[in-house]
Formats: sequence, structure tokens, C-alpha cells
Amino acid sequence: MPQPSSSAAQPAHSHFMERVPRPPVFSTAAEERRHRKERLAGAFRLFAEFGFDEGVAGHITARDPERLDHFWVNPFGLHFGRIRASDLILVDHSGKVVEGHAEVNLAAFAIHSRIHAARPDVIAAAHAHSLYGKSWSSLGRRLDALTQDACAFYEDHVVFDDYSGVVEETAEGDRIAHALGAKKAAILRNHGLLTVGHTVDEAAWWFITMDRSCQAQLLAEAAGHILPAGSSSSRSGSASPAPSPICSNDGVVSAGQNQEAVTAQDAHRQVAPRLFARGV
Ligand SMILES: [Zn+2]
Repeated sequence: MPQPSSSAAQPAHSHFMERVPRPPVFSTAAEERRHRKERLAGAFRLFAEFGFDEGVAGHITARDPERLDHFWVNPFGLHFGRIRASDLILVDHSGKVVEGHAEVNLAAFAIHSRIHAARPDVIAAAHAHSLYGKSWSSLGRRLDALTQDACAFYEDHVVFDDYSGVVEETAEGDRIAHALGAKKAAILRNHGLLTVGHTVDEAAWWFITMDRSCQAQLLAEAAGHILPAGSSSSRSGSASPAPSPICSNDGVVSAGQNQEAVTAQDAHRQVAPRLFARGV
């Protein structure tokens, strides 16, 4: 039976990608603000479902579409699972709450305000003390390319190795933003994970899949010798996984010329809408 060539497969793949849901476009800032707040509230409730809440720790922020140096964030002390769009507060560049009647978590302001300032492309940033993320962070190592999902972080995340306790100073936020650079995620040593995105959905999805990648690597390393993606079985005894040839530094997973090649960005766009269906 004749096999489809890679040139024949490409149009079908392109057609498929054209039908994948894309982020909506808005005609007014008010519509876009409402959408971002709804997705942000949904992200918090999704984080609660994944068990990412830990006391009063953790925050996700979304840049306001008009006042670009302001961001929406969760009110201090309200459980992730109870947050509605109307509960979110708007914080300015100095840490003042300009909309809403709750307090802002000082760490949320200290970290997120500096990331939003340093990264104009970032719309949203997520940070929480999730179990597997903070467990992995104590090792002070980047994630290895052990699974196809972890390839999304290959050469696209950093370890912030300058933990000094609860972050209450913007100076530490500046150091975290500097360490993050242009990448999508940071492992804050002895603390937890931090991810950023061009949408709320993207930042939340990177966080969810990064925490699960931490879980996968913890499980794999506890079970025995590991085989990094792209390695041969003859290297099964390698204690230090080599960089994977099938993971490129822009998150593209290319398992072969005739196999499906999906960017991590596209993957999040496929999966995120389903993830949010129950949360908003
Ligand atoms: Zn924290």
C-alpha cells in the first residue's frame, strides 16, 4: 500500500492547524479586559483543581490591555477555587490597588511587576508552590528532555539560584526577571515554578505541564536509569542526560521528517481551551 509522502502530508497538516482554535480578537479594550479577567479567574480555579494552592502562596497576573503598567491579580487570602472575575484586583506599577477592595500579596507585586516591566511581550505570569515544582526546585537543576512534553522547556527555562526567603523586595523581582531573560519559565530554587505567556491560557498551561514534567522526572529518577529523549539504549547508564537532538530550543518537537511536527505553542492552543472549559 503506497505511503503518503511528506509533501502530501503537509497540506493536510496545514488544513488541520487552520481549524485549531486561536485566541480571540477584540474590537475594544473593555472586551479584551473582560476576556482576560475571565480567563484569569478560570486559571485560578484550574490551579485549585490541580492542587497548586498552598495557603496564601501563589499568584497569576494578567497585564491590563489599556494601562500597560498595571496588572490584574488574585486578592490576598482568597482560595484559588473561589476566585471569580469580579474578585480580581488591579495593581499599578507602585503596588497600589487601584480597582478592588482587597490587599495584594507583596510577593505577587515584587515578582510580577518586575517581570511585566522587563518583558513587554508577556501578558501573563504564573507562580505557585506546587508540590512537584517546589520538590524539583530543591535540586537546583534544569529539567532534562526526558519526555516529549518536557521538550517544550528544552533550552527555554532557567534556574534562579538566589533564594533569599519570602520575596518582598522588587530588587529580587528584578533579579528573577533578569535570570528569566527571554525564556518561558524559571525554576526558583527552594521555592517553586514561574511561567510566562502571551496569553493567560499560555502562562497557565506552561505551569501545568512544567509541574507535571517535574513530577515525571522525579518519578523516573526514583525508578532507575533514565533514557533522555533521542538517546540510544546503550546510554542507559548515563548519569547526566545529554542534550536531546529531537528537541530544538524554540520548543519545536520534531520526531522525524514524516511524523507530525507540532510546536509547543500550537499544542497549548489545542489543549488549553479544553482545560479551561470547566474553570470559567
Ligand atoms: Zn512564592
